[in-house]
Amino acid sequence: MKQIKLLLSDVDGVMTDGSLAFGPDGDEIKTFHVRDGLAVHFWQSLGLKFGIVTGRTCRIVQARAKELGIGYVRQGALEKLPHVRDLAKEVGVTLDEIAYIGDDLLDLPVIKAVGLGASVADGVEEVRAAAQFVTQAPGGRGAVREFVEHLLKESGRWEEVLKRYQ
Ligand SMILES: [Mg+2]
Repeated sequence: MKQIKLLLSDVDGVMTDGSLAFGPDGDEIKTFHVRDGLAVHFWQSLGLKFGIVTGRTCRIVQARAKELGIGYVRQGALEKLPHVRDLAKEVGVTLDEIAYIGDDLLDLPVIKAVGLGASVADGVEEVRAAAQFVTQAPGGRGAVREFVEHLLKESGRWEEVLKRYQ
């Protein structure tokens, strides 16, 4: 098991089910899963870093990131790998120490480049094929939670989280 220090996630189709809803003023509305949010909290509470890399740009993502205390947010990242390399430099980790979860072809170069590339259950075929880990949950339905739990169990740190609640 590689030592993962930075976990990066796509938004649409991973932290959401991929639906894009628009309000009357044209503002985008997204639905997030509360258990993914708690997973981000668990992850960061262990001193590990979490970030978002998304091809789209919307205020909702900034708001969700702020709510969860996510300091690393790259929106409008249509070509994701250069942003991931930048973030690696900013955080001070190697690509090998990064885990990334995505669902579509935009994510493929990152999934292949990082230490641990993952996909959601309903990710596109090519992404699932390239991923080292595929969640059982589809995007927006606890996939990030599942991936975080997997990483923490593999590194023997899940017990640390559980202890707080027992
Ligand atoms: Mg996506």
